[in-house]
Amino acid sequence: MNIAGNLKTIRDRVDAAAKRVGRKGGDILIVAVTKTRSPEEMADAIRAGVNDVGENKVQEIVDKFATVAGLAEREGAGAHVKWHMIGHLQRNKVKYIIDKTDVIHSVDSIRLAEEIDRRAAAFGRTMDVLVQVNAAGEESKFGVPTDGARALVAEIAERCRAVRVKGLMSIAPAAEDPEDVRRYFREVKEVYDLIARDADGERLTAEYLSMGMTHDFEVAIEEGSNLVRIGTGIFGLRNYGK
Ligand SMILES: *Cc1c(COP(=O)(O)O)cnc(C)c1O
Repeated sequence: MNIAGNLKTIRDRVDAAAKRVGRKGGDILIVAVTKTRSPEEMADAIRAGVNDVGENKVQEIVDKFATVAGLAEREGAGAHVKWHMIGHLQRNKVKYIIDKTDVIHSVDSIRLAEEIDRRAAAFGRTMDVLVQVNAAGEESKFGVPTDGARALVAEIAERCRAVRVKGLMSIAPAAEDPEDVRRYFREVKEVYDLIARDADGERLTAEYLSMGMTHDFEVAIEEGSNLVRIGTGIFGLRNYGK
């Protein structure tokens, strides 16, 4: 697996997609989704220039955090690697990652936000979070409906002192043709633009619109995403069978 080569290909495609809509590729953050990947593979990606890694399970973050930090430090990149929690987060597990993650993308209730707030305050830090939007209303997915996102963002900003809301995250439905999900990206972007108007520059900012994965990131960028979460495109197909 040529991680550096794959990463370069993704970067070029991000740049091209951004250019098509008059944006700069450099303004789009690539989060390398490292679920199921070993710390050594993660170190390869960091060596190739990855600064942001995404995981969807608390257990995997806990298991890999120290090892990856050690390997990254040897690469001279230890201080730069940011961990993004992109998967569903149960309230009783917040405490395990409060000292390890930089951004939690999957906040979909005030109760979860309040638990993050409580743990972050106790740890003496602030936590950056995104509100997850279930744009297509899929039963199988977490997140708030598109028309409920703005209110939840406002409620979190008002009630949670140790949390900063920085935008929205959405996972589009699986579709063979990514054109079929363009409208969902567009609807989430519309809410994101409203949130940008509500922003106070402190506890509420529109900094990240986290949309797009390996099979649909170009459409997501065309519709305004500035953070794409790429796993397969960088590391190849995942093997869940152990
Ligand atoms: C696994 C995962 C990704 C990456 O998916 P790929 O198709 O491998 O790029 C992105 N976002 C979330 C929330 C994921 O769980």
